[in-house]
Amino acid sequence: MIAIIGAGLSGLSTAYHLKDTEYAVFEKEEEAGGLCRSVKRDGFTFDYTGHFLHTRHPYAEKLAEEILPEGFNRIQRRAFIYLQGRYIPYPFQAHTYSLPQDMRKECVMGFIDAQNQEKSPPENFLDWINQTFGEGMAKYFFIPYNEKFWKMNLRELTPEWTSWSIPQPTTEEVLKGDEGFRYEQMGYNPSFLYPKRGGIELFTKAFLPQVRNVTFRKPVNGISMKDKRLLFENGEEVTYTTLISTCPLPHLLDLIEDLPRDLREAREQLRYISVINLNLGISRDKVSDCHWIYFPEKEFPFYRVGFFSNISYALAPPGTSSLYVEITHHPLEMRNAECGMRNVETCSTEGGSLPIVKETIKGLIQCGILKSSDELVTALVIPIPYAYVVYDEFRKENLSAILEFLKGNGIYSIGRYGAWEYSTMEDAILRGKAVAEELSERLR
Ligand SMILES: Cc1cc2nc3c(=O)[nH]c(=O)nc-3n(C[C@H](O)[C@H](O)[C@H](O)COP(=O)(O)OP(=O)(O)OC[C@H]3O[C@@H](n4cnc5c(N)ncnc54)[C@H](O)[C@@H]3O)c2cc1C
Repeated sequence: MIAIIGAGLSGLSTAYHLKDTEYAVFEKEEEAGGLCRSVKRDGFTFDYTGHFLHTRHPYAEKLAEEILPEGFNRIQRRAFIYLQGRYIPYPFQAHTYSLPQDMRKECVMGFIDAQNQEKSPPENFLDWINQTFGEGMAKYFFIPYNEKFWKMNLRELTPEWTSWSIPQPTTEEVLKGDEGFRYEQMGYNPSFLYPKRGGIELFTKAFLPQVRNVTFRKPVNGISMKDKRLLFENGEEVTYTTLISTCPLPHLLDLIEDLPRDLREAREQLRYISVINLNLGISRDKVSDCHWIYFPEKEFPFYRVGFFSNISYALAPPGTSSLYVEITHHPLEMRNAECGMRNVETCSTEGGSLPIVKETIKGLIQCGILKSSDELVTALVIPIPYAYVVYDEFRKENLSAILEFLKGNGIYSIGRYGAWEYSTMEDAILRGKAVAEELSERLR
């Protein structure tokens, strides 16, 4: 029997694609979806921050339409960067026309200079920023934004994750964008699918009638690699032939009782950052026209703010707006002093009086999204302990050896946190499919 840890999108896609092969899915929560879940509060539907299905691969889009027939709207992105009181269309590097004159010149000249420099492979993410975009764009956007986001020295990061996620325009495109051209299609997410009638979990939960043997409230508490056994809380055990794990890689390594010492040490070096997702319901229609906005400046505690109510009418009552706000922090830096929560790892709470909510609302008023006369209908804080994997030298040198070791012992660690990567919902669907097909082929 193939055992699957986790009923998030990767686990559900694996189960779906295993078809008739025998499998069982064990999920610690009482419902499916993982990060692709939704919470209902006071008439609002909030996701775990914005979760939009960007499809680059025709198969993922076809599958989504099959799983939730006629259930999606396709939405054209409306994304901006808020800087010096202005809204710059996303991506920043292709729309310098909206900047003040002196900044514009610095950004474009810096970009051209960088293109003319002789390049050696960048040693770290900071080098990559300077080499790719030049001094001006680095100074005004890329460095402040990424320092706020990653909460670390950008020299500690490697640039491998940037190839698909950060648009890299040509000099011609930058010049055209400086003259006022709008690039609606640039980047990996110019449009996306989102359920018509509710939150993102309408999609993930639509997998459930099409998969079997999913047990909820069933956290895997231990794994014996040698005898291929999963251990559960009440002493129950299950044996497997192959294990597919979609839980975060450090957690998986902690669960394996007979893990060699060097891997135990390696586990300590896997770095990531966490997100506090603050969702707000406001009693005023259309507080913004955007889908989401990036905030590089230090005076705002958040790095991105998005608007659920502009994604779908189904997500907020008529005459209201709903927002998601994202703030990163180090996993061990407890924000309980700020948000009033006892344990940020496990707690999800609500209430407009929390200090983190007040601090955020102050920032939202400062940039003009909210007015001081606005009424807060509801506030929901969702901690996301594992949010972004840190791409550093350790990951670059050791990750593939860790995953190969596990595979050699019959454990496939997949998904955004299982494979320890920066990836999307589409990738979760495709990775689940790939591993299911590999195993089904082997069993044939
Ligand atoms: C802030 C943020 C915004 C994002 N926005 C987007 C977006 O707009 N578009 C997009 O495509 N992607 C987005 N993503 C990425 C997306 O969330 C992931 O790619 C996807 O949800 C990964 O699914 P998964 O199944 O691999 O992992 P998860 O969703 O983490 O699922 C893992 C499952 O394993 C379960 N589990 C863990 N431990 C155990 C255990 N011991 N026993 C049993 N079960 C266990 C968990 O409860 C969970 O259900 C975003 C991610 C973040 C953090």
